Amino acid sequence: MNMDTNYNETYLQPDVILIGAGIMSATLGVLLKELEPGLSIAIFERLDAVAAESSDAWNNAGTGHSAFCELNYTPQNKDGSVDISKALKIAAAFEVSKQCWAYLVQQKYISSAPSYISNIPHLSFVWGNENVAFLKKRFEALTSNALFKGMRYSENNEQIKEWMPLVMEGREPGQRLAATKMDIGTDVNFGALTKSMILHLQKQDGVTLYLGNEIQDIFKTKEGQWQVTIKNMASDKNRKFHSKFVFIGAGGGTLSLLEKSDIPEAAGYGGFPISGQWLICNNETVIARHHAKVYGKAAVGAPPMSVPHLDTRMIDGKKALLFGPYAGFSTRFLKHGSLMDLPKSIKLDNIMPILSVGLKNIPLTRYLIQQVSQSADERLDSLKEYLPTAQMPDWELAIAGQRVQVIKKDEEEGGILEFGTEVVCAADGSLAALLGASPGASTAVSIMLNVLEKCFPDKIKTPKRQNKLKEIIPTYGKSLASDPVLCKAIRKQTSEILGLEKES
Ligand SMILES: Cc1cc2nc3c(=O)[nH]c(=O)nc-3n(C[C@H](O)[C@H](O)[C@H](O)COP(=O)(O)OP(=O)(O)OC[C@H]3O[C@@H](n4cnc5c(N)ncnc54)[C@H](O)[C@@H]3O)c2cc1C
Repeated sequence: MNMDTNYNETYLQPDVILIGAGIMSATLGVLLKELEPGLSIAIFERLDAVAAESSDAWNNAGTGHSAFCELNYTPQNKDGSVDISKALKIAAAFEVSKQCWAYLVQQKYISSAPSYISNIPHLSFVWGNENVAFLKKRFEALTSNALFKGMRYSENNEQIKEWMPLVMEGREPGQRLAATKMDIGTDVNFGALTKSMILHLQKQDGVTLYLGNEIQDIFKTKEGQWQVTIKNMASDKNRKFHSKFVFIGAGGGTLSLLEKSDIPEAAGYGGFPISGQWLICNNETVIARHHAKVYGKAAVGAPPMSVPHLDTRMIDGKKALLFGPYAGFSTRFLKHGSLMDLPKSIKLDNIMPILSVGLKNIPLTRYLIQQVSQSADERLDSLKEYLPTAQMPDWELAIAGQRVQVIKKDEEEGGILEFGTEVVCAADGSLAALLGASPGASTAVSIMLNVLEKCFPDKIKTPKRQNKLKEIIPTYGKSLASDPVLCKAIRKQTSEILGLEKES
């Protein structure tokens, strides 16, 4: 197994440098090694463990995002209709991820599936006439597509009680409620998955993982290679590596490294950090009585990813129950980062977009300040909207991962705030960086395929590599949203391998 102790001289010039040992680098590393087994890869991680930032199971919500229950993926148009285009993309991207994970299981590259992916039904739950009308329209729009086959809708409180008894317990009778349920929803332990993938990579010839090693600088040499300066956190010593290709998969740490690379494509990008907190249930009886991921509607002014949800989780073989996230504001870009991250990220080329976004997003700022200053009683009140019988001693507050939303230069607006992910590539394909956090880990495979297509367009077009990609992702290049037969067949296949519930 290749692991950082002393620097391995052979790999001072690896073919590929991956910065950060989260799910994105792990996924790219695995795909690259499958496509070109002879590649040498060096993975650098500033912390002493793999997947200890956003990819850690307790730092994210573990939802296998398929847009089954997340209402923010289906915005309502001005004419009242529901836009499902984003939901279709996300649902299809999750199927791509599942195919890749199924391939890794089949090849015995990673541990058996139940340790990282489990079936937990996905439910949307709303109250009030307006929200009920929206959910019904959403259901009708989504179920016209095969990706959402099997979704059920109910306004019947008895039916909803059957789906989620604890959520209905102690609720005022006669309340106007509606819910949808998708049985094939999943919970994913992205931390366990990342660790399995990195362990598999470490067993490959030419792959070395350097833990406790922080990238300090990235610089393009006259010869056209990237020179990367690495600080060993234990010895405080710096070392330089060179490579033809660098992927910055440093999560919240990506923006500052991208700025250091000085590629023209990085100009104008900024970051807006949003922190999060969960309430974690410590009462085994309560945990045992709920079995679903229940997503509601975001409060007015709330960022889309701060939709409250009550989540059954399966973490390291144990059932857990989380509520949140409660959003907040911190100037850190990483959970284990520095308070100076935000101020240091402001440069001449991004100050205008950042200021413009700040001025235009006063409701968001107000919402975040209100969330940060919430008392324990106010947090309990939010929880009680989902679990009317909740009692504070059964719940403990914990810090979630940090998300850095993308701020982009915009000709008309000055700057715009985006809630998705963005791959930024050097024109010559020698460097790629991933900014943003949502829908995140669930779509890691599609995002990394996008990196391959942008950075190695000719290399991956060869018949040999196209065939390999189709072996890993049988539907590669095909649209699941417009092919119900293929959608059903591939779901059946991946469910069998991953030990998941099959579509009825
Ligand atoms: C509260 C919350 C809830 C979420 N819920 C979900 C969900 O339900 N479903 C979902 O699919 N996604 C979810 N996400 C998003 C998902 O967690 C992320 O998209 C994903 O984990 C990002 O993976 P990554 O590899 O890019 O980053 P990370 O996992 O953060 O890894 C980046 C790594 O880079 C390292 N690093 C940083 N700087 C340097 C440096 N200079 N040198 C070396 N190493 C460095 C960090 O230490 C870290 O280990 C959630 C995120 C948060 C915060």
